[in-house]
Amino acid sequence: MLEVASLGSGSSGNATLVRSATTTLLIDCGFTLKETLKRMATLGVAPSDLTGVLISHEHSDHVKGIGPLSRKFGVPIHLTHGTFGRLRDNRLIAYELFHAHAPFMMGDIEVDPFPTPHDAAESCQFVLRHQGVSFVVATDMGVCTPFVLEKLRGANGLLIECNYDEDMLRNGPYPPSLQHRIRSNYGHLGNVQAGPVVKAIDHPALEYILLGHLSEKNNTENCAREAVLASVSDAGERVEVLKQHAASRWYSISGQAVTTESEYNQVTV
Ligand SMILES: [Zn+2]
Ligand SMILES: [Zn+2]
Repeated sequence: MLEVASLGSGSSGNATLVRSATTTLLIDCGFTLKETLKRMATLGVAPSDLTGVLISHEHSDHVKGIGPLSRKFGVPIHLTHGTFGRLRDNRLIAYELFHAHAPFMMGDIEVDPFPTPHDAAESCQFVLRHQGVSFVVATDMGVCTPFVLEKLRGANGLLIECNYDEDMLRNGPYPPSLQHRIRSNYGHLGNVQAGPVVKAIDHPALEYILLGHLSEKNNTENCAREAVLASVSDAGERVEVLKQHAASRWYSISGQAVTTESEYNQVTV
């Protein structure tokens, strides 16, 4: 079993906890150290519990607290060569460079990084595996390439980006150049793009579909949820929208096929 919780997700900060019985990983640290520790505490996790930290890319909404976390607690930081080269605060006490195509172990969780199309030096996201159960983080990518789609297939839990609603982005406060950057193939996935991705990889043992990295200016929880449910109408109970300003609950991912109430009734009557 894998357990997953978001410390917060959105354009102004991202961090996700993934744990097995003996290993706890933090994926990105886009909040200040103080805020990170506060939100981890609400989930019962202390810095000394962390096996290590994975960094997806150098944008500040993913690395804001990395330097202080490293210097205060010495937690090993794992990142690509390209991301390390672009870190503004790279005075890390302990770090390991990984290759974005090469799986590696952190404790008893296998980390399978995959490169993503995004306007960062060496952006990647992650498949996490433990005893046949997998969880995939897929945010910060302008387009879901066939290669990325293959990495998402078979996931038992998915955190997928729903950055913007097209109408809100077009009519919102962002200048055309920034709108163009967000929509581009190296920007972010919008609600309209995320739905078909979820549909393409949906299967009976996909237990949770977490919608994340919403823009506070260009999206709402309802817009994101409705857009994804338009593609996967039977996924209502499995879809949750992550919040920017609060941690989520823990999600337990068992790898078992999800039994819907109607299926359950068919089996029992
Ligand atoms: Zn981001
Ligand atoms: Zn980014």
